[in-house]
Amino acid sequence: MRSLVVIGGGPRAAGLLERIAAQSPTSPLTVHVIDPHPPGAGRVWRHAQSPLLRMNSMAEDVTVFTDSSFDGVGPVRPGPSLAEWGDVDPTSFPSRQVQSKYLSWFFHHVRESLPPNISVSVHEARALKVVGNWVWLDSGEPLRADVLVLALGHLDAEPEPEHRKLAEHAAEHGLVHVPPLYSADADLSEVTGDVVLRGFGLAFIDLMVLLTEGRGGTYERIDGVLRYVPSGLEPRLFVGSRRGVPYHSKTGYRLQGTRPVLPHFFVADDLRGRALDFRADVWPLMAKEIAWGYYHELFTGHPGLVRMPFVEFATSYAAFPWYSAEMRELELLAVPDPDDRIDFERLDRPLTGLTFASGEEFQDYLRAYIEADVTRRSDPRHSADLGAFLALLSVYGQLPQLMPFDGWWHGYFSYLASGPPPDRLEELLALSRAGVVRFVGADMWVEAVDGAFLAGSPTTPDVVRANGLVEARLPTHSLSRTADPVLQSLRVVGDVSEDDTGLVRVSPEGRLINERGEEDPVRFAVGPYTTGKAYAAFARPNTNAPAFRQNDVLARTILRTLGD
Ligand SMILES: Cc1cc2nc3c(=O)[nH]c(=O)nc-3n(C[C@H](O)[C@H](O)[C@H](O)COP(=O)(O)OP(=O)(O)OC[C@H]3O[C@@H](n4cnc5c(N)ncnc54)[C@H](O)[C@@H]3O)c2cc1C
Repeated sequence: MRSLVVIGGGPRAAGLLERIAAQSPTSPLTVHVIDPHPPGAGRVWRHAQSPLLRMNSMAEDVTVFTDSSFDGVGPVRPGPSLAEWGDVDPTSFPSRQVQSKYLSWFFHHVRESLPPNISVSVHEARALKVVGNWVWLDSGEPLRADVLVLALGHLDAEPEPEHRKLAEHAAEHGLVHVPPLYSADADLSEVTGDVVLRGFGLAFIDLMVLLTEGRGGTYERIDGVLRYVPSGLEPRLFVGSRRGVPYHSKTGYRLQGTRPVLPHFFVADDLRGRALDFRADVWPLMAKEIAWGYYHELFTGHPGLVRMPFVEFATSYAAFPWYSAEMRELELLAVPDPDDRIDFERLDRPLTGLTFASGEEFQDYLRAYIEADVTRRSDPRHSADLGAFLALLSVYGQLPQLMPFDGWWHGYFSYLASGPPPDRLEELLALSRAGVVRFVGADMWVEAVDGAFLAGSPTTPDVVRANGLVEARLPTHSLSRTADPVLQSLRVVGDVSEDDTGLVRVSPEGRLINERGEEDPVRFAVGPYTTGKAYAAFARPNTNAPAFRQNDVLARTILRTLGD
């Protein structure tokens, strides 16, 4: 009997198993799934976590099943989206516990519908090392793998030198330092008093929730305004980052106009084989594509807001490069309200050039900024932002077909497209009004001094003296600093290698690439720590989701490798 060992039992492993089954292999096969967390959900989506933590995807935008849009080799096997399965409001942002149930159900559903020649064996264990064809588990059990797949997901890392120093400083002075961690796993029990949070993205939102509502605080709505009622157990949170503002709110509406066909201007196939520079050749096309999604929706959904027929606009738009005087003129001519024109540079650094005489003035300014963001993102009048969002997703899927991810782009994408639900920002505002959260500013600096952490920003003259520093972000994936024992064991013998950004190198088919640049005949890796990471988020229905296509190709390659 041939044996396939999959290390990691999260959503990716479950999706791969579904595609293996869909391709109906004929030979007998045992699949071993190894994970200390429950299969299907895995670590990120395990049920055993705070019920307060939520997804940043709407229920109707999450599915684990292929649909008629799918153009892979394997067959379509339809099934319910999260909204349909969980009978939840399609436009709500469900809790991670609800998603956990959906993913666990999916895993069991796939397992139960397997053909009789495939069996699945789940090992509630951590894999410790891989030697040759053998995988060693912490339960002491060795498993033989004819083919091995690493679906390890979001990995922990050994501390970076800066974090090591900060941790030592904290230990010496009785302070607290929390390194980059998956928030649900972080020990926050010592986080009290005045604490600086470095990072204003989704990890911040999780930490904010755990340190406030998670400590017994509650919210009440008075005359339509949300108010935070403290429990007295929450620390005071000083938050800052490079941009100094939170990620943009998710939109809370649907398209009002027609859905554009994407990709339109940034098509990987048209650019393949050319020597490309990200800034000079690629980003201007990406910008044009994102703005196309934006203006397509503005013109088709809100013709009253523009001064030109769409066909006329589209013809000129196609002719001009994004960064050209002609394009700016076209925008001026066609779109009268500056708030309806898209400006990538202003969006990227909204605090650039702004300074405030006092921290207090800045608090007022940033509250107004966040309020405006929530209002805009909840108002279908601005549904062009959703048009841009859909184009952002398209661009996100095209880029890795051409070149490795650019660090700036990945951050910018997350900031624009992967922000929190709007009500989380409302909570942030309430916490700010209650004095529990204070905004530090852009380009925040942090210093370890005698007995404290200091933090400040060029945005205001204020300097914070805090007894804690929390790195509000996930660990950066890096093979050389990985804390995962399996990758460490493969690295020692040169069977894995990393690219310039620390990602594990894989071939387009997902095969591990060793230090000599050779493709591994029987070992594969997939997920956010690999160079094939483009498709880390959940699939959206009816989008021919890249994650399904990637799983499909991987399933086919694995079955071929197993001789099926
Ligand atoms: C905090 C957080 C929130 C997110 N929210 C969303 C969201 O709302 N919407 C969205 O679309 N995407 C979201 N994502 C993106 C996320 O990448 C996917 O949702 C998904 O979890 C990725 O699946 P995966 O199986 O690749 O990785 P994971 O979910 O990380 O699963 C990998 C599994 O491998 C196991 N593992 C690792 N090493 C070993 C080992 N040595 N031995 C045994 N098992 C091992 C882990 O225990 C884990 O269960 C979020 C990610 C994070 C981190």
